[in-house]
Amino acid sequence: MNSDFTAALRALFPADDLYFDDERREPYARDESDQGRFPPEVVALARSAAQVSAIFKLCNLHKVPVTPCGARSGKSGGSLPIRGGVALSLEKMDRIKAIQKEDLVVVVEPGVVLEKLQQAVEAQGLFYPPDPNSQDWCTLGGNIAENAGGPRALKYGVTRDYVLGLEWVTPTGEVMRVGKRTIKGVAGYDLVGLFVGSEGTLGVATEITLQLLPLPRAVKTALLIFPSTLKGAEGVSAILAAGLLPRTLELLDETAVRAVENSGYAFPPGTGAVIIAEVDGLDPEALMNELVRLGEVGTAAGAHEVLVAQDESQRSRIWEARRKVSPSLRKLTRFKVSDDIVVPRSQIPTMVQRTREIGDRLGLMVATYGHAGDGNLHANVLYNSLDDLPRVHEAVEAIVRTAVELGGTITGEHGVGLAKKGLLAFEQPPELIALQRSIQKLFDPNGIMNPGKIFPDA
Ligand SMILES: Cc1cc2nc3c(=O)[nH]c(=O)nc-3n(C[C@H](O)[C@H](O)[C@H](O)COP(=O)(O)OP(=O)(O)OC[C@H]3O[C@@H](n4cnc5c(N)ncnc54)[C@H](O)[C@@H]3O)c2cc1C
Repeated sequence: MNSDFTAALRALFPADDLYFDDERREPYARDESDQGRFPPEVVALARSAAQVSAIFKLCNLHKVPVTPCGARSGKSGGSLPIRGGVALSLEKMDRIKAIQKEDLVVVVEPGVVLEKLQQAVEAQGLFYPPDPNSQDWCTLGGNIAENAGGPRALKYGVTRDYVLGLEWVTPTGEVMRVGKRTIKGVAGYDLVGLFVGSEGTLGVATEITLQLLPLPRAVKTALLIFPSTLKGAEGVSAILAAGLLPRTLELLDETAVRAVENSGYAFPPGTGAVIIAEVDGLDPEALMNELVRLGEVGTAAGAHEVLVAQDESQRSRIWEARRKVSPSLRKLTRFKVSDDIVVPRSQIPTMVQRTREIGDRLGLMVATYGHAGDGNLHANVLYNSLDDLPRVHEAVEAIVRTAVELGGTITGEHGVGLAKKGLLAFEQPPELIALQRSIQKLFDPNGIMNPGKIFPDA
């Protein structure tokens, strides 16, 4: 990073919004992907689209890489500045600009934390359904870039389904408005569809227009207890095959159940796996009937107990257990690799079984949990020694290949980023990867924007 670049940067940003010192750069060297530490040479905190545009133009002039970041909760290494340069943080652009109740629309800056948005719209009787489990700290900009989903995706879909329009700064510094603020609109190519899920490689969102729904008046949650993981997985398939559409069907396998128990949560004796099922709607009585039907189907599929949360505190306790899964698994062994494969729903039991077999064959502990209702499973490989790494890589590859063989995909919500770029070719042929690279080149001719992500190294 030469002195001309640094001097020009200082002219664009106030001194307080540029971090050159080690201490303040350090947090921007990591995210939640366990991919390692990659310190940027400088962190720039943007406060406007004009600043984002100016810094992109400057980075093009000096061929300096720039990596956008939100809260750095990402699990695929998307925000890691692997080639150094600038970490461009959107965290200070954190205003909810307008909630337009009659239009069911909200306009936000990208640094707004998801939970803050949810609380603000719910206070007005409105609902923004996407709910990644990191909702208390991830940002809308990161959600857009990763097309984040969560437990409620089963009924309500993922982030892309709610993005109407974007103010978008391209890597060459053009500020564009794409999309619309109406529910319908088909003029031109769907650039919103292209930008959502582009993992910080095609530019940066500086304003986001989202669609809202009316807030469901009632929510009911149940815990279905199964004797084994396979029975639990079969329970998920049975519930969906019965024509029921709860808003969540989360599965915790035996390893996940044990890990959460170690963190102080007690499941009934004999619990081998659990499903967290949640229904929502207008009429509490109708919901109760739906939950009873769901319990009957679960019981026929092998559940030996169905526990319905009687009040909000019991409900939040169930969700607390779900949120504990990832940190509790982390405590079981020194290291863990987390996958987020997806398979067609009918293949959930097969995928769970095959994952278990892969772990057994390679002598590794594997936990499978997650948003099983939409086929999205987090298969975690747990290990204690770096000597195990060759077997761990073999296990991850085998799990991902199995998902693709079963008609699924290598990532349902975490993105490819750095973590899975070597696996993309399992799912996509070379021509498709080449086409995407040429789209990237069109937007980013100098290759400054979050380089080294998504696509396999040449
Ligand atoms: C405990 C835990 C639970 C999680 N649960 C879920 C889950 O249920 N579902 C799910 O989908 N994910 C989940 N995640 C992953 C993660 O929280 C999401 O990917 C989230 O969307 C990332 O948001 P962020 O603000 O932290 O983005 P970051 O991690 O900072 O960045 C992610 C990507 O977005 C890009 N980016 C950031 N801001 C912008 C912007 N304004 N414009 C363009 N690109 C930008 C970055 O370059 C990077 O590529 C979980 C993570 C953790 C730690």
